[in-house]
Amino acid sequence: MNSYKIAAIPGDGIGKEVIAAGVEVLQALAARYGGFKLDFESFDWGSDYYRKHGVMMPENGRETLKSFDAIYFGAVGAPDVPDHVTLWGLRLAICQPFDQYANVRPTRILPGIEGPLRNVAAKDLDWVIVRENSEGEYAGQGGRSHRGLPEEVATEVSIFTRAGVTRIMRFAFEVARSRPRKLLTVVTKSNAQRHGMVMWDEIAAEVAADYPDVTWDKMLVDAMTMRMTLKPQSLDTIVATNLHADILSDLAAALAGSLGIAPTANLNPERRFPSMFEPIHGSAFDITGKGIANPVGTFWTATMMLEHLGEKPAAERLMRAIERVTADPLLHTPDLGGSATTRQVTDAVIGAIHGDN
Ligand code: ATP
Ligand code: MG
Repeated sequence: MNSYKIAAIPGDGIGKEVIAAGVEVLQALAARYGGFKLDFESFDWGSDYYRKHGVMMPENGRETLKSFDAIYFGAVGAPDVPDHVTLWGLRLAICQPFDQYANVRPTRILPGIEGPLRNVAAKDLDWVIVRENSEGEYAGQGGRSHRGLPEEVATEVSIFTRAGVTRIMRFAFEVARSRPRKLLTVVTKSNAQRHGMVMWDEIAAEVAADYPDVTWDKMLVDAMTMRMTLKPQSLDTIVATNLHADILSDLAAALAGSLGIAPTANLNPERRFPSMFEPIHGSAFDITGKGIANPVGTFWTATMMLEHLGEKPAAERLMRAIERVTADPLLHTPDLGGSATTRQVTDAVIGAIHGDN
């Protein structure tokens, strides 16, 4: 029997609520079908840890995580801790050294869920956004001079490397190739940004030569927001820089009905280090403790984790259970316009797992 070690890092706010739900669902799935075993170890890292110890995670935290097969992550961020501390102190402190350079965000309108686009059928919105997750606009380069003075200058430097762009482009072409439509859209802003973005376009064309079976096109990011909204059916796999894909994937999540549904995988495709799986939403302190956080994004995230571990049939079973539950409006949380609780949705998914053959 395959046995996997999973590090659960619930983090802050509703991260704790949705990861608890996700672990429960995954355990139910493993118990129902057998064939594989999940050993969870939970780590209390995050803003509470920071208030006690002055750091978001212990110094040897990364070393500890190395021995795990995957990381199941909730959310970080708290009203009283600066964002750069929470983000750089935990999430990026894992993503960057573990070289999780491919961030993958599937978007679909699940059964029973109504997106805001009235003229779009669910089947017309089925995307995977591939986000470059290691460099670009979030490279952290730049600085400020003459701080606070009238002549102050701040620079925020984007770093694009040929190696970094080539590997994400290859990854995106592979994703596109694995999907029925074999369609890839490469997003840049190469009309206004003349260096890194032009290199993206050039590398896209070079890599495309190795994928004659994939149809691809280029879009400027501003026009892309319109195309996603007005012609969602013209898109399938999308690849974009760290910043552009960050923005586009929030748009995608909203178009699919709620931020609470959307999953993400931060992959180290070469598997030299563990990959990390998380819902795309944040810690959402406005609803923390109310028991109404939508756990669906965290469950969908779990299907991506199972697939990465090589347990595809289990991933498919879990997705079926999730879709059976979203199809029932009585099981929608308030973000979807319903009144169900995290507990009710979790129990319903576990029930659907038990009811499935
Ligand atoms: P971050 O800075 O980490 O992106 P944020 O505060 O900007 O966090 P989120 O925490 O993702 O954004 O939440 C934005 C809004 O969406 C919140 O106000 C919250 O009410 C809602 N929301 C996010 N996730 C969920 C969820 N799982 N269930 C219900 N509502 C959610
Ligand atoms: Mg946000």
